[in-house]
Amino acid sequence: EWEFEMQQITTTTAEWQALDREHHLHPFTDPKVLGEQGVRVFTHADGCYIWDSEGNKILDTMAGLWCVNVGYGRQELVDAASKQMETLPYYNTFFSSSTPTQIQLARRLSEVTPAGLDYIFFANSGSEANDTIIRLVRHFWELQDQPSKNVFIGRTLGYHGSTLAATSLGGMAPMHAMGQSLLPGFEHIMEPHWYRHGQGKTAEEFGLEAARALETKILELGAENVAAFIGEPVQGAGGVIDPPSTYWPEIQRICRKYDILLIADEVICGFGRTGHWFGSDTYGIEPDLMPMAKGLSSGYLPIAAVAMNKRVSDVVNGGGVISHGYTYSGHPVACAVALANIDIIEREGLVEKVREETGPYFRQALQQLADAHPIVGELRGVGLIAGLQLVRDKANREFFPAEEQPAIQCREHCIEENLILRAVGHTMVACPPLTISRAEIDEMIEKTKAALDKTAAAYGLL
Ligand code: PMP
Repeated sequence: EWEFEMQQITTTTAEWQALDREHHLHPFTDPKVLGEQGVRVFTHADGCYIWDSEGNKILDTMAGLWCVNVGYGRQELVDAASKQMETLPYYNTFFSSSTPTQIQLARRLSEVTPAGLDYIFFANSGSEANDTIIRLVRHFWELQDQPSKNVFIGRTLGYHGSTLAATSLGGMAPMHAMGQSLLPGFEHIMEPHWYRHGQGKTAEEFGLEAARALETKILELGAENVAAFIGEPVQGAGGVIDPPSTYWPEIQRICRKYDILLIADEVICGFGRTGHWFGSDTYGIEPDLMPMAKGLSSGYLPIAAVAMNKRVSDVVNGGGVISHGYTYSGHPVACAVALANIDIIEREGLVEKVREETGPYFRQALQQLADAHPIVGELRGVGLIAGLQLVRDKANREFFPAEEQPAIQCREHCIEENLILRAVGHTMVACPPLTISRAEIDEMIEKTKAALDKTAAAYGLL
């Protein structure tokens, strides 16, 4: 232990970078570019701040990867994990077994999820939760003698994970392209991105039109061949696309009309992010199945869950053996941490705080920034998730050409300011811990403005 600590103290950033370059392949990264730049090494964190190996204190307005909802440095979560590790570090959920934290968490989730979603399957990541859903939903239709109902409809720029099946469910073209990853049986419709696709229409008109793309697709495929529609209440990794108010009610109507199951992917939107427990609460969606992860444990340990309603659970419960599961489904330590995490969210009133206090403050400050800034076309999002769309010509709603990378430049300028925002396409994304204070929001705005100014200046817009 001593030796490890010494190594942490004495290893220089350059040494970490050399080791990382030699031994570590990074997700969603160009290894060649990273090798040239050198990786940034983060060493510790507290609240909304993280520190790098150079000693810089950085405001993490991405909450890790959209997940550290209760903020860093929560001793309560450490204690919950260590207590559970001492008592029972592991036992599985296969073959008629369960452990107390698994059972308690399943019940707790049935309380916080929208009414009717009372039955839980555990996994370890959002990707695994979505793979589980694909298998369960096809099983559900097979058990009802409708095996042809097996096609899933997702959306362009939807993100549902990185396993083969979750990649297919999502609508990210570069992911489909790498390794021939688009499986048969997965279709995609347009994303409800009004600012990009809805010119000349009101947001409400466009919302209906985008939702009706689902009806068109169902009719094209034949409803007898469609298993389910999946969507994130607010598309996160696609660039924070919050749909017009007319979108979800119309999607819900279409799913009911054609007897298509509705899946709301709450991996980012869950656990208070949008100002309610779930994005489905915010948008009035009544899904049949709901994958969740990230905020479930605030990222302190990997855990995910699938909640399903009685219609689904009644069928699968009568259908024989569930030939599916993960060694770590319902890992007892991860469940203990998730329970303690939900306790914190409740005790500190974080959901209400996002809805009534920090969410409105965050939006108002960002809206002012967006309105006044020549490189920002619009602010998107809800609650504590936001996207700033960078544009070439604000007055004429003209986007940057695909080969330009203003957001990547802006992200680098944010880092110079000791601020983490994410660049997605031509959008700057913020998704801070739900514990962020007004003063920290002010700091974020000031630093974001400085980074936007530098980016705009480089394009001759300022
Ligand atoms: N669904 C959504 C909406 C996500 O945003 C993500 C991850 N960003 C996933 C699923 C996949 O989760 P994981 O990375 O834990 O597999």
